[in-house]
Amino acid sequence: MSTKAQQIDRVFAAIDAATEEMVDFTSEMIRIPTVNPPGDAYEECAHFIGRRLEQCDFAVEYLAAEGSPDHTATHPRVNVIGLRRGATSRPLVHLNGHFDVVPAGAGWTMDPFGGIVKDGRIYGRGTCDMKAGITAAIYAAEAIRRAGIPLVGSVEISGTVDEESGGFAGMAYLAKQGRLSPEKTDAVIITEPTNTDRVYIGHRGVYWFEVTTRGRIAHGCMPFLGVSAIEHMGIILDQLRRELMPALNARTTAMPVKPEGARHATLNINAIAGGQPIDGIQTPCVADICRAIFDRRFLVEEGFDATRAEIVALLERAARETPELVYELRDLMVVHPVRTPDGASVVSALDRAAQQVLGRPLLLAASPGTYDHKHVDRIAGVPNCVAYGPGILDLAHQPDEYCEINDLVQSTKVLALSILELTGSL
Ligand SMILES: [Zn+2]
Repeated sequence: MSTKAQQIDRVFAAIDAATEEMVDFTSEMIRIPTVNPPGDAYEECAHFIGRRLEQCDFAVEYLAAEGSPDHTATHPRVNVIGLRRGATSRPLVHLNGHFDVVPAGAGWTMDPFGGIVKDGRIYGRGTCDMKAGITAAIYAAEAIRRAGIPLVGSVEISGTVDEESGGFAGMAYLAKQGRLSPEKTDAVIITEPTNTDRVYIGHRGVYWFEVTTRGRIAHGCMPFLGVSAIEHMGIILDQLRRELMPALNARTTAMPVKPEGARHATLNINAIAGGQPIDGIQTPCVADICRAIFDRRFLVEEGFDATRAEIVALLERAARETPELVYELRDLMVVHPVRTPDGASVVSALDRAAQQVLGRPLLLAASPGTYDHKHVDRIAGVPNCVAYGPGILDLAHQPDEYCEINDLVQSTKVLALSILELTGSL
């Protein structure tokens, strides 16, 4: 029998001893260019992760997103999921990472897919977002095994596709297939980059909508004989800007969204087009159509129904007050806000682990944008979910993206202690 402190020391020693292995594994993963779009080399990467999970005593399955429109012969959407069962199947903690990466883009001073290790950092597209996170998940579980500590509950690790394009063939697919559910899953940690010292407990909601105004075409030398769809869109934009935007800015969520500016409700005018195409040949006509696309980020306190009703009310009033103003509203995308419930065991387990590893409590934060958390919460129905992992979020999608090896090691330790606590093994 060893004491709890001795067991923890053995886990930490196993992680320290595995550092080089973890760096090599991450570098090799970076060399598989899983660029999305279009979704390259997914199958190869899923099997690369799957082989390592098998070596670490996981029972591994591959799940192609059959039926998904993005799952094609040239770009198969293949996810991998591994299970290591403890003495009992529950409590089960699931660790997830997406292995798709955004395109390299310009500005790199080195090969983005070279897996270069230099000055204590691993460089490459997808190091922090989020292949290092996948490494951390696997080695957190593996260190427990190498330390000889038997698991009471079970640990499951998935590598999924397409997070960068919405996660529909990835985490959403796994959730729809019932691979994560309240009947089998007790806690979920998505190992996205959270600077090692913060935990993400959700995000605001997203409402993308399109407004079309329709006018009546006439000769441009006699505009009074027509109805300008562009002028009518201008009236709508003016009301949005003068009335709605200040109101949104005055609303603040209680969620700890970082940066601070994203604590408010916001509206962005994403695109606008009206009349004849600018680069085409112009003829003198009153614009008979104008379309604009809007990105409204709403707070958990606002809710979607009130958010949409507010837009409808504003458009209705513009139509009432302006002769011949005709509009159509089309919903393009709705992502509901998610928030990890207060007192969630996954937050307290990570916090206790961080205090032990880093010597300070974790900062609670919410993300300005969305990530796969929404699918775990809304489709799988598992609210006990957060994001925690190695790497600096600000470096995601940037040139010369990297992850500090020290961050990788530290967050692996935090994850290992959390797995021990959440599976009831300590
Ligand atoms: Zn990510």
